[in-house]
Amino acid sequence: MMNKIIWFRYDLRIYENSAFTEAIKNGNVLPIFIFDKELFKLETSSSFHLRFIKDSLNDLKEKLKKKYDSSLSIYYGNTKEILKYLIRKYSVSEIYSNVIFKHKYLMDLDKNCENLFNDLKVKWLQTNQFGIDLNHRKRFKWASNWNEFIQSDEKSYKFNCKFININNNFDFKDVKTNKINAKLIQRGGRDKAIKLLDSFIETRSENYQREMSSPVSGEIACSRLSPHITYGTISLKEINRKITDKLKKVCTINKRKSLIAFKSRLAWHCHFIQKLYDEPEIEYKNLNSAFDVLRKDFNEKYYQAWRTGFTGYPFIDACMRYLEQNGWINFRMRAMLVSFASYQLWLDWKQTSKHLAKLFTDYEPGIHYSQFQMQSGTTGINSIRIYNPIKQSLDQDPNGDFIKKWVPELKNIQGKLIHEPWKLTYIDQKSINFELGKDYPLPIVNNQQTTRIARDEIWKVKKSNQAKELSKLIVQKHASLSSRR
Ligand SMILES: Cc1cc2nc3c(=O)[nH]c(=O)nc-3n(C[C@H](O)[C@H](O)[C@H](O)COP(=O)(O)OP(=O)(O)OC[C@H]3O[C@@H](n4cnc5c(N)ncnc54)[C@H](O)[C@@H]3O)c2cc1C
Repeated sequence: MMNKIIWFRYDLRIYENSAFTEAIKNGNVLPIFIFDKELFKLETSSSFHLRFIKDSLNDLKEKLKKKYDSSLSIYYGNTKEILKYLIRKYSVSEIYSNVIFKHKYLMDLDKNCENLFNDLKVKWLQTNQFGIDLNHRKRFKWASNWNEFIQSDEKSYKFNCKFININNNFDFKDVKTNKINAKLIQRGGRDKAIKLLDSFIETRSENYQREMSSPVSGEIACSRLSPHITYGTISLKEINRKITDKLKKVCTINKRKSLIAFKSRLAWHCHFIQKLYDEPEIEYKNLNSAFDVLRKDFNEKYYQAWRTGFTGYPFIDACMRYLEQNGWINFRMRAMLVSFASYQLWLDWKQTSKHLAKLFTDYEPGIHYSQFQMQSGTTGINSIRIYNPIKQSLDQDPNGDFIKKWVPELKNIQGKLIHEPWKLTYIDQKSINFELGKDYPLPIVNNQQTTRIARDEIWKVKKSNQAKELSKLIVQKHASLSSRR
């Protein structure tokens, strides 16, 4: 009987996992997961990712044991060397996995693995869990092909293999990565994903559209499925099917609208992954190179203030500190944090994106870098949106409760001044035993002035012939869905 490896990567489930289903059709199967040593050392990796993977692997281990009496062997080190060792030791002739569409490091790693497998005459059979067009996007066909993919049933075969069980006692503490101490980050594992999906469909989605933009209500009203989708503890097809089933039943107008809006985001997810697959350079180059002339000097002082949540803009600081404790924040606030860094602070997204990649438990390079570029105005094809942190604060946290919780040094400020503490008079400050510039920083930049300068600078480039010509080519290559994202 043939010996095979099922290599779990960003698909930490056995349910509706086509790579796993194909692998267990016959032969002797060794299930593995590899923590790549260098990957976890990257500036974009962190203990948030490690924690989520750890939970998900423990859950996957349990499920493999219960359903197939199989173990899961976990390794840490150089991926290529580990695979070489396993192939030789177990005379492996086939490797099964889902294609991954990530950043440059993993793309290069996969090329190296492919070369290794070719040298050792091992077949690498990869399945595609996101409906990505491996022959690159066909502009007017992408959406219909993707819809066909998401609605198609997963193949199922009779399980007819023997599992190779290796007694592999793995200690997660061996994995070295950038450590961030936080207690509130989401837990991984398929059971948690199912619970989130069910509670979202049944109750939490009722006001999804109305409440998703505030970090206070968004925490509950959003599905919170993003890290589960990133690490594949649940498949997109399963999510789509359950939402579709719910929409066939009687539900309120609000819920119907919300579920439809949510469903379209699953397509956005894959649209952005396709974008990265088609143009991997978006991780480290402006999509529209006409914008390369901007943001040449990196102000380290501004960056540190933004990164640590001490910019003097209470809502920005509250969002950053919340994110650092939770490993998640809603879309609008992610966009605002990036917009503030890229426009008011004029920081290059190539540096700021790395820090947020670490903090987002759901770090998904395709979405991440596309969104960073959109929110920084470097695509040339999206509208320029510069968020006003004071307006956002008044709209999304009118009573300042969120600010008071995450920037406790401001908790005694009454009324609307919580949004603009620099307006406190000397007497105001004395009366609450608070000193601006000592207990909390004065704004590091002038919001109005820096917004105006940034808008002028970005429009100067956007209006140039060079930017316009390049934008036409970008639209041809990447645009596919008509809805806003
Ligand atoms: C600067 C920036 C960086 C981002 N980086 C990431 C990232 O690394 N990983 C990531 O998953 N999302 C990213 N997003 C998109 C979005 O903010 C998150 O997907 C969302 O907040 C996750 O919470 P949720 O699962 O509760 O979302 P829900 O609103 O419940 O959405 C459900 C799912 O749809 C997908 N989705 C939602 N919004 C978008 C979007 N705008 N574009 C593409 N897919 C979307 C996600 O898979 C999400 O889990 C980023 C947004 C911005 C502005």
